[in-house]
Amino acid sequence: MQAAVWYGPGRENFRWEQVNLPDLNPGEVLIKVQKCFFSAMHVRAVLVGHPKHQPPEIFGRMLAGDVVAVGADVTSIKAGMRVTINPERPCGECFYCQLREWGHCLNPTTLASGGMAEYVSVPATLVDGILELPPEIAYEEGAYAETLACILQAMDLSNIAASDCVVIVGDGSVGLTFVQLARLQNAAKIIFAGKHDDSLQQGLALGAFRTVNVKHESLRDVVMQETHGYGADVVIEAVGSSETYEQSMTLLRCGGTAVGFGGTPPGTKFTGDPNLIHYRSLKIYGSYRYNPDHFRRALDLICTKQIDLGPIITHYVPFSKLTTDAVDISQQPDCRALVIDFAQEL
Ligand SMILES: [Zn+2]
Repeated sequence: MQAAVWYGPGRENFRWEQVNLPDLNPGEVLIKVQKCFFSAMHVRAVLVGHPKHQPPEIFGRMLAGDVVAVGADVTSIKAGMRVTINPERPCGECFYCQLREWGHCLNPTTLASGGMAEYVSVPATLVDGILELPPEIAYEEGAYAETLACILQAMDLSNIAASDCVVIVGDGSVGLTFVQLARLQNAAKIIFAGKHDDSLQQGLALGAFRTVNVKHESLRDVVMQETHGYGADVVIEAVGSSETYEQSMTLLRCGGTAVGFGGTPPGTKFTGDPNLIHYRSLKIYGSYRYNPDHFRRALDLICTKQIDLGPIITHYVPFSKLTTDAVDISQQPDCRALVIDFAQEL
């Protein structure tokens, strides 16, 4: 089968290869990929590498497709089902699983090979994570469940109450998803901040109370105006920069909660004022990955149409153009989420 293989940093090292179709062993499931996301993580890996990935690798955890074959002993999944898959399962036994810190499991089962290939083999221990898509749900909507699961974990940490003023910093696909989830939590005021007017406008339509284009307006001034000078109850950082992490702490009321969702390269530094953390009793969390329950909840939100993915999934790239075009399309200012489309030529 045809696969896009990542051989390390540098565009020339993201290239096509013919690889063997995965064997189908007892208990396993073979999926023909229909849609797979090309995310910011992939852009970073192709351009400069990624500390959590070692080449060679076939990327693509956020995928959906058709079951084409099931191994002996598989009874819950049938050929022909339209599915997405939770691509990771914590071991349940290691130091971190015992602490219920599932995202930090030391021995997770993951897909050996991802969705930037025509077929994906699902190991037996992940088959429980294969979930069927209703006919009215598009493959790419189902494939968004993995990202949404990560966002749901951050939402749990943020503990938003109905009376809360919530600030969401970052107007990409993730920020637009946070806006919708904060609205579902009935947050009283959602202040949505970023640098892209079209995205901010979408945020308003999806439930934001106020938008702030930080190129033209002071986010802190707006937050203080909207909270009678107290500060926000919750700030969610969905950018992944020193500046926004630092700023998050300055936007909170006493006892407020900041959740760091945006990833940064190792060694990134920011200047924080410990005086704020101590004397204002701030609660500061980081959120990474998710647990199996978050994945099921995420797909349920998608299948019940409680999350509108229309404004989030903006661009598609044909599978045949993946290695040449995906990075450039991802970097276009109006690209919020890019989907690899296998149907366009296979
Ligand atoms: Zn574990």
